Amino acid sequence: MDSIPTGASAPLLEVFASYQGEGLFVGEPQTFLRLGGCPLRCRYCDTKQSWAVPDRDSDGWVTPFAALIQVAEHELREGPGHRPIAVTGGEPLMWPDFLLGLGDVAGDRPLHLETAGHDCDALERVLPIFDHLSLDLKLASDLSQPAPGLPYSAEDWDALRPRQLRLATEHLGRGGTVSIKLLVTKHCLSPDSDSMDPILDDLKRLGPNLPLFIAPESPSDARAPFGRDVLQGVDQLVAAALERGLSPRVLPQMHRALGVR
Ligand code: SF4
Repeated sequence: MDSIPTGASAPLLEVFASYQGEGLFVGEPQTFLRLGGCPLRCRYCDTKQSWAVPDRDSDGWVTPFAALIQVAEHELREGPGHRPIAVTGGEPLMWPDFLLGLGDVAGDRPLHLETAGHDCDALERVLPIFDHLSLDLKLASDLSQPAPGLPYSAEDWDALRPRQLRLATEHLGRGGTVSIKLLVTKHCLSPDSDSMDPILDDLKRLGPNLPLFIAPESPSDARAPFGRDVLQGVDQLVAAALERGLSPRVLPQMHRALGVR
């Protein structure tokens, strides 16, 4: 085993077991590692508590090995293990050395990465250790107040996306699996939202074989109906994807429908 780089620790906010709510592995029991820190600040984020990076000297910073111990302890308490480990956030790409270290210590546990892929250098470094890439493609208008220096404008994301899709396609080529996710929120339908057409054009050009999941934003109350406008937005997006020869699947956010994390 390669030595784990110093500084490979990351803020671990929680370890929990749940059902995968989105994408190719929807419904699969998984163990989630939620890392702290996200510079993107999406308007619709349901984990805003994960945005801040805790102080280095506070509790919660762990090495990859310590994170895996927490997974084992959790699974001893809560039930049988050997579920895939889904690394989520926050934005896990903030901690590439931690992720590489996790790959070193995880053995044969399948590893899934849930990311917005805003840092393609980090994504390229860490992707080989993951079995599954769950990539949320963002619009600039999804973000409320991203940190300085991050993809901020629609042009920034348009420039970034070809590399994101190339990395995802290479991952498929290596035998990995990929979920490309587009979330349709009420905000997507407002006049000040960016169009998703450039995303679909890039998918047609660079990733026609990448599994594409369109998710209507689910109401936070599992008993509430989906917004009519959101469902209309989904219909429009599906039609636009089909026009381009893509094969979208519509999948609500199942964790919300089930009322679990
Ligand atoms: S990238 Fe994810 S964690 Fe970060 S703000 Fe957006 S939805 Fe929240």
